Amino acid sequence: MDLEELLSRLEARYEAGSWWPSSSAFEVMVGAILTQQTNWRNVERALQLIREGSGLEVSAMASTPLEELEEMVRPAGFYRQKAARLKLMARYLVEMHQGDPEGILGKDAEDARNELLSLPGVGKETADSILIFAGGRPKFVAAAYTSRILSRTGVLDSTDYDEIQSFVESRLPPDTMVLGGLYARMVILAKEHCLSTPRCEGCPLSDGCALNRR
Ligand code: SF4
Repeated sequence: MDLEELLSRLEARYEAGSWWPSSSAFEVMVGAILTQQTNWRNVERALQLIREGSGLEVSAMASTPLEELEEMVRPAGFYRQKAARLKLMARYLVEMHQGDPEGILGKDAEDARNELLSLPGVGKETADSILIFAGGRPKFVAAAYTSRILSRTGVLDSTDYDEIQSFVESRLPPDTMVLGGLYARMVILAKEHCLSTPRCEGCPLSDGCALNRR
């Protein structure tokens, strides 16, 4: 199986939906930090507490006392670390971009990525999630799920973030819907079938998968 066939099989089985499920660029940025090492359900609980508390506004988050923010972030785990990162990000936006995420997202894609990567706690996966889902930039998020699926199916044997991202981006059109849709569908597949112990029965990739365990 090659990447194009993998994509076409996933498109035939799964809807990409409205991934990323957030209503503003700042909410995507907050969600991208909250989702580190946890699942989206926990992120939603934390986002709701932030909405009800400080509100999902840059300036409000920047001025919220850290201890209060920690309590709102608690359901997402690693709450001290994540609250500190969120507050630093909000303060950075206020101080450097008048509180407007477009100050970063409106830049040339590489400059925007580098600026995001300079923020505490923002690695490549988080930066690329923000770029595609908040900035509409055609970036593939080469998360661990994607490495697992690509290597098991025999499409690409790599755990290197940059290698996986370049591999996908060089073979598919630079289209946010295509790259975001592939990522979203791979997340669904990883949760339904390609878990750490795979459930290959009924997997849409099983026919051509190198590690089919049916
Ligand atoms: S057939 Fe099994 S190993 Fe291959 S992608 Fe599907 S769930 Fe993963």
